[in-house]
Amino acid sequence: MEIENLAGNGKDFTGNIWHLEASDETVLVDVGTGDSWNSIKGLEEVDNVIITHSHYDHVDNLEKVVELFDPEVYAYEPENLKVEASKLSEGDSVKLCGESFKVFHTPGHKDDSICLYSSDSGIVFTGDLIFPDGGFGRTDLDEGDRDKLIESIMKINKLDVKAFYSGHGEAVEENADRSIKASLQAAKQRTPKY
Ligand SMILES: [Zn+2]
Repeated sequence: MEIENLAGNGKDFTGNIWHLEASDETVLVDVGTGDSWNSIKGLEEVDNVIITHSHYDHVDNLEKVVELFDPEVYAYEPENLKVEASKLSEGDSVKLCGESFKVFHTPGHKDDSICLYSSDSGIVFTGDLIFPDGGFGRTDLDEGDRDKLIESIMKINKLDVKAFYSGHGEAVEENADRSIKASLQAAKQRTPKY
């Protein structure tokens, strides 16, 4: 499976848009906001969209994506979105590009936050739960709760993670387990970066 970030070249602040490609299937994990739309609309097709949580910087382009590609959309709380979507619950499995990902409900940054984990490859999509270099999601917004965030990071810390792809910042493809531990320590100690 190929994974690339479609966000990042525009001027607007946006969440990452992880573009997964394999087995004739195209998946987006979050769809970003603003001029990152320009990199999405160049795709040939989008079959599935997973929303890690419903903050605008992750979902703002969703209506345009649905209009152009008509994909299946999945989220923990579909009612928070402006398009029709299917519900994902804790423990569900979803097949993306031929690989099975397990859904973890990970509140603390926002109530409808999820992470998706593949035990085959050790890949996790973490949304705004954790970021590279010991970063973690801010908990000073609506629905933010530091204790819940710490519990959620502990769920991910128990997994055998080889790489993670978060809602902001670069992919972490080396020493991912160490990075998650650093995020957990930092969440217990200090104020967030994002
Ligand atoms: Zn967020």
